[in-house]
Amino acid sequence: MGLEVLIVGSGSALPTISANQTSQVITCGNQSFLVDCGEGTQVQLRKNKVKIQNINHVFISHLHGDHFFGLVGLLSTMHLLGRRADLQIHGPKGLDEIVEIQFRNAGNNLYFNMLFNTVEKPGLILYEDNKVIIKSIPLKHRIPCFGFHFQEKKGLRKLDGHKLVQHDIPIYARKSIAEGLDFRNDEGLVIKNSELTFDPVSPTSYAFCSDTAYSEKLIPFIKNVDLLYHEATFLESERDRAKKTFHSTAKDAASIALQANAGKLILGHFSNRYKNKDGFLQESRPVFKNTFVAQEGEVFKI
Ligand SMILES: [Zn+2]
Repeated sequence: MGLEVLIVGSGSALPTISANQTSQVITCGNQSFLVDCGEGTQVQLRKNKVKIQNINHVFISHLHGDHFFGLVGLLSTMHLLGRRADLQIHGPKGLDEIVEIQFRNAGNNLYFNMLFNTVEKPGLILYEDNKVIIKSIPLKHRIPCFGFHFQEKKGLRKLDGHKLVQHDIPIYARKSIAEGLDFRNDEGLVIKNSELTFDPVSPTSYAFCSDTAYSEKLIPFIKNVDLLYHEATFLESERDRAKKTFHSTAKDAASIALQANAGKLILGHFSNRYKNKDGFLQESRPVFKNTFVAQEGEVFKI
């Protein structure tokens, strides 16, 4: 099946005409998860034809405005469009207070329930269904900040239609065979599962590492991830500034991707001082070759 990552916004603190603030949509099957929601996110979601009422889980990495100032507006739109389904919002302590005070003082009673889940520890299971499991990643920033790790679960085994006919396998048995069981016929003859099925597609994984200084502590939480998004606000020329503001350079992100044995790296959260993103690739690729820059509207399929 595979995970898909839509880059909704790839800029940092100051939104510009060409760069929106951080936001992504991660799709797994028919589920869409919104990760961070900077100012202007709902307009970008519309531009990218994301059905906002299909979003049932929102994940906010931290309380710097460029990662969540779009949330109240998005919630208001969901309400105006008649949403009734619960919305789960995973984020740092204090997010519930900020959102609720806004609606309370505006005298708005939302048609739907907002269910807040406070993310306070790394490695916590924030969401799980039969297709995917989402956990928190520790990041190093000026205020509490967590990333999110999406791990697809192993799917059902693929049935070999030809072999099913050949062995005269009844329809009712197919579900358990897809789940990995052998088949036993009425005469007691056992047909091995490996004779009837192919291996399922390998499950994929994605890690979203929002604002963070260079931190090796996050590596165990993202080891062997297929696709890694890691912020790269600055280039090496601004290394002191990166350190002071608890952000990373492109080279830092590449080093983390290399140590984590990631399959592919996406850089984002670029400072708006860089009009051209070539420098990010030039500094990252010598350390980690398979690097790309986040382009708004782009979809990364894993
Ligand atoms: Zn921040």
